[in-house]
Amino acid sequence: MNIRVPSTEIKYRCLRCGRISTAKAISSQVRFQCPHCGFSILEKVRREFANEVIAR
Ligand SMILES: [Zn+2]
Repeated sequence: MNIRVPSTEIKYRCLRCGRISTAKAISSQVRFQCPHCGFSILEKVRREFANEVIAR
């Protein structure tokens, strides 16, 4: 098995329940809202993968 998750996949974090959902999961719904609690305010999350390197 060789499953690769693209690191550029867009994700959103719900500002109410704090859960992170993929843009794919959100766009599969009727409305742009959190799949978990239905809240409609989500912030975009860039990459939340462990191998991200921040060089500052
Ligand atoms: Zn939520």
